[in-house]
Amino acid sequence: MRFEAFEKTIWLATPTKRDDELKYIQEAFDTNWITTEGTNLVEIERQVCEKVGCKYAVSLTNGTSALHLAVKLAGVKEGDTVFCTDITFGATVNAIIYEKAKPVFIDTEYDTWNMNPLALEKAFELYPDTKVIMVVNLYGTPAKYDEICSVAEKHGAVIIEDAAESFGATYKGRQTGTFGSYNVISFNGNKIITGSGGGMLLTDDKSAADKARKWSTQSRENAAWYQHEEIGYNYRMSNIVAGVIRGQLPYLEEHIARKKAIYERYKEGLRDLPLSMNPYDPDTMEPNFWLSCILIDKDAMCEQIRGENYTCYKSESGKSCPDEILETLAKYNVQARPIWKPMHMQPVYRMNDFVAIDDEGRGVVTSWDSDNKFDVGADIFQRGLCLPSDIKMTAEEQERIIQIIRSCFE
Ligand SMILES: *Cc1c(COP(=O)(O)O)cnc(C)c1O
Repeated sequence: MRFEAFEKTIWLATPTKRDDELKYIQEAFDTNWITTEGTNLVEIERQVCEKVGCKYAVSLTNGTSALHLAVKLAGVKEGDTVFCTDITFGATVNAIIYEKAKPVFIDTEYDTWNMNPLALEKAFELYPDTKVIMVVNLYGTPAKYDEICSVAEKHGAVIIEDAAESFGATYKGRQTGTFGSYNVISFNGNKIITGSGGGMLLTDDKSAADKARKWSTQSRENAAWYQHEEIGYNYRMSNIVAGVIRGQLPYLEEHIARKKAIYERYKEGLRDLPLSMNPYDPDTMEPNFWLSCILIDKDAMCEQIRGENYTCYKSESGKSCPDEILETLAKYNVQARPIWKPMHMQPVYRMNDFVAIDDEGRGVVTSWDSDNKFDVGADIFQRGLCLPSDIKMTAEEQERIIQIIRSCFE
């Protein structure tokens, strides 16, 4: 071992505490608003609307419940097809399944690692009746919204934007969380702003926001007693959680700046290695840089074979692979993570259709077989890795991490 292990684990992304969270929680206690109503909720909804530039924000227990309500608002019914980003966190797809709809996964493009607009267009040829598209901004990088919105418009489809990871990112100067009719952000503990949990549904449609509020509090009708005309949920955020978020929100831009500095340091420190960073288009996009990732060049990959829950690789000089780097970092007490495994490769979703683009630019429905050469998502999963992106990591700590990664290629 040529480096010392870190005494304290360096994490992928953990909450960064600020000063005012406890103040706002205390305020909720002092005024006895220890419930799902109160000033903290009012205040964070106001601030998020102002920041993002949307008309309505509804605070919910988490991003997943916000996604579920978004799917309902989009009118998704049992058996409907919903086009969905393929490289994402499972919550995106689960929300579609809660309404018994059928996700069809759309392959990824290499420019932003998000939904490929061309594959989306092809998917409409194959499933012309589809009315809803679920788009994710992976790791804080916006998807290609000009292209995706124009395909959606052409086919009269509604967009749900899962901006859980991209709060604060912009595309052509416009904040993510505004490109869909219904949009979602998350305040989960590892996101750029946290409430320990929590999420929001964002929309410009007043009746949608009203419905979401009503559904989230058990769908109570306006009556003296508990009167119910529709099914409800207990999805409303607590005013205590909102206090944490209220203390965090003023630091969004600072957190983005620090995440960006981390990204730039990796880029600089790893630049002569045979790999690239998670990409974006600097002319149109300003990501929030939530997670810094790398993609190892094809010809610099040593052999790596992944089963369902084990992996096997063969070290080779001058080459490496994500699992070798993961294992090496772990030895030094550093947490990294594979790229989110594509949904079409997940045991629970691999029977669902997956639309990719073949060599001749045709849309093809393919299987989960990872040997499929048209499968961009499987390729990024095979060669990519999320690096520690915690904003409390110091430049010196990051420099050591960079050296450890470099040693894997020796
Ligand atoms: C975190 C996340 C969610 C879920 O948010 P929770 O607040 O944890 O429920 C949904 N989609 C994506 C892409 C996420 O990263």
